[in-house]
Amino acid sequence: MNMFDCVIVGGGSAGLSASLTLGRARRKIAVFDDGTNRNRVTQQSHGYLTRDGITPQAFKETGLKELNKYPSISYFHSTITEIINKCSGEYFIVKTSDGQEFYAEKLMLATGIQEEFSIPSVREFYGQSLFSCPYCDGWELRDQPIIIIAEKDEHVMHMVKLVYNWTNDVAVLTNGVELSKETVQKLQKRNIIIKSEYIKNLIGQNGDLKKIEFESGEIMIRSGGFVVPTYYRPHQFVEQLACQVDKDGTVVTDGAGRTTTRNVYIAGETQKLGATSLIIAAADGQKAAFSVNHDLVMERF
Ligand SMILES: Cc1cc2nc3c(=O)[nH]c(=O)nc-3n(C[C@H](O)[C@H](O)[C@H](O)COP(=O)(O)OP(=O)(O)OC[C@H]3O[C@@H](n4cnc5c(N)ncnc54)[C@H](O)[C@@H]3O)c2cc1C
Repeated sequence: MNMFDCVIVGGGSAGLSASLTLGRARRKIAVFDDGTNRNRVTQQSHGYLTRDGITPQAFKETGLKELNKYPSISYFHSTITEIINKCSGEYFIVKTSDGQEFYAEKLMLATGIQEEFSIPSVREFYGQSLFSCPYCDGWELRDQPIIIIAEKDEHVMHMVKLVYNWTNDVAVLTNGVELSKETVQKLQKRNIIIKSEYIKNLIGQNGDLKKIEFESGEIMIRSGGFVVPTYYRPHQFVEQLACQVDKDGTVVTDGAGRTTTRNVYIAGETQKLGATSLIIAAADGQKAAFSVNHDLVMERF
């Protein structure tokens, strides 16, 4: 049986960072990635010290080049479809979409999250002129007239307060939802435009938003902004492996990547089911890798 010390499912920032740490710790690992990292739609990644402005593709290629130096790391461009927990975490069988099987003593989930939008045409502009993270792309939209598409009071207020320091020319679009009186008053005090009408269409070219068409036929000219998506895990591994999840959907850990299921670790955005950043995911990956290596040391020494 070809047994790996650890299989890492997901080679984004978290998974690659965990791989680097485990490879340097001379652990035999396999990392699987199918290229569905949610930031693949964007042109530039910002805020990662020493890599500000790098493309997601170059970020991944640089990471893989660094992993290449360590012979105990195997990288596979493929999709994991099934993980079987054998003998209560004694080992794991990991299956790929092309029918291959791999065996691992430890398993790390670093599969990220994905977004869902209530207005499907947001996808055409997402990563180019519409974004979800002001820390990632607020600087690029500074002082511009922007939209915020959000449908819940708390999401609207959170996003407005956050972006206000980048630009105070903000139009809030709630796509058919009426905000509470209190929220409306707070926004009006800051001269923020509120449109609760349904959005009929987002219009633009090559990812660049030009205007928004409402159900009434009214047109608003705006070239960018922020949306509040709903996030989900792109798989059922957490459930299948019976990892405990709290009421917010966060996978319960010991704070260092160990889940409640024996020998299952988790890192990056998939743990909290919420958006963070490349550098936070990388740090998470390293932290979880420390735990994997620590546990192997303790079990084997
Ligand atoms: C439009 C946009 C712009 C962004 N801009 C920035 C920015 O400027 N700066 C910044 O710091 N952050 C930015 N982010 C956020 C950043 O992309 C995430 O915080 C980061 O990628 C999270 O890392 P992760 O490793 O947890 O997940 P990911 O990077 O999403 O990696 C998860 C990986 O798991 C793989 N995977 C999932 N399921 C399977 C499976 N079953 N089998 C095999 N592989 C699988 C996927 O292929 C993916 O590569 C942006 C995000 C978006 C959407």
